[in-house]
Amino acid sequence: MTAQIIDGKALSRQLRAGFRERVGHLQAQGVQPGLAVILVGENPASQVYVGNKIKACEECGVRSLHVGLPADVSEAEVLATIERLNADEQVHGILVQLPLPPHIPVARVLEAIAVDKDVDGFHLYNVGALVTGHSIFPPCTPYGVQLLLDATGTDVAGQNVVVVGASNIVGKPMGLMLLQREATVTICHAKTRDLAQHTILADILIVAAGKPGLIVPQMVKRGAIVIDVGINRLPDGRIVGDVCFDEVKEKASWITPVPGGVGPMTVTMLIENTLRSAERSFPLARGDDRHGWDAPPAARA
Ligand code: NAP
Repeated sequence: MTAQIIDGKALSRQLRAGFRERVGHLQAQGVQPGLAVILVGENPASQVYVGNKIKACEECGVRSLHVGLPADVSEAEVLATIERLNADEQVHGILVQLPLPPHIPVARVLEAIAVDKDVDGFHLYNVGALVTGHSIFPPCTPYGVQLLLDATGTDVAGQNVVVVGASNIVGKPMGLMLLQREATVTICHAKTRDLAQHTILADILIVAAGKPGLIVPQMVKRGAIVIDVGINRLPDGRIVGDVCFDEVKEKASWITPVPGGVGPMTVTMLIENTLRSAERSFPLARGDDRHGWDAPPAARA
C-alpha cells in the first residue's frame, strides 16, 4: 500500500479562495478585517513566520499591521501596545509571535490580549473553552490538522488517535479537539515508556515532537492516517518532519508531507480565525452568527 498524500498546500489554496469572498462580503458591509502581528526582537525564524502571515493576509485581502518592538523592550511597553490594539476597532485579531525574550513573561502577555481578538487561541479562556468544545478561536495548528483529517473523508468518532507531543500549542489542544469529536485519544510525550506500543494502535497518528526520524514504519499500523506536524532543519539544510516519510508512506493510507502538509494550514487557519473575529464583530456581515469551531464551508464541501 502506498499512502495518498494529504495536500495542505492545495487545501489552503481552496480555503483562501473562499476567504477572499468573505472579505468582499465584509467590505461591502463597511468592515475591513485586520490582523496585528507583534514581533519582539529580530529572531530570524520568527521574522520568516511573521513574513508568511503578512503575505497570507495580503493574499486574502486582510489588512495587516506589523508592530516591531526592540528585543530590550519592557514588559510594560508590550502590555501597553496590546492594550492599544485591544481598543482599536480596526484590529480584529492580535498575535504575539513566540518565543519572546526571556525577560518578558509569556503568560502575562497572552492574557493581556482581548479574548475576542485572540486569533492564535492561546488566551486561557480559549484554552479552557476547548475542554467544553466552545472555544471561539481554536489554536491554528491543531485546527489545521482537523481540516486535513476532514479532507480524507474520515469520521474520527470512535477512532484510536495517538498524539505524540503534549505541548500547549499543538499536542494538548489537538487531543482535546479530537476528544470533542468522540475519538479515543492517547497523548504521548518524552517520558512515555515504549512509545511504539502506543503508536502501533493508532488509526490516526499525529506527531508533533520536533524530533526528525522519530516515527519509523515499525511503529505504524498498516492503513493508519499519519499527520506529521514536525518541522526540523537538518544539518544539510533540508526541512523534514518527525516521520520517516518515504518508509511510512508504504504502510499508511494517508500521510502529510513536510513541507506542504500542516505548515500552510497553520497560517490559513490564522486568517480563518481573523475573519471569524471580524464577522463576530458584525454578525450581519456573514448573514448568520456562527459560534464554535466547525470547519469553514470550503473544507466541508
Ligand atoms: P515543544 O513545545 O518542544 O513540544 C514537543 C513535545 O514533544 C513535548 O510534549 C515533548 O514531551 C514531546 N517529545 C519530545 N521528544 C519526544 C519523544 N522522543 N517521544 C515522545 N514525545 C516527545 O514543540 P511544539 O511547539 O509542540 O512543536 C512540535 C513540532 O511541531 C516542532 O517540530 C515544531 O517546529 C512543529 N510545529 C509545526 C507547526 C506547523 O505549522 N507545521 C506549528 C507548530 C509547531 P515533554 O512534554 O515530555 O517534553
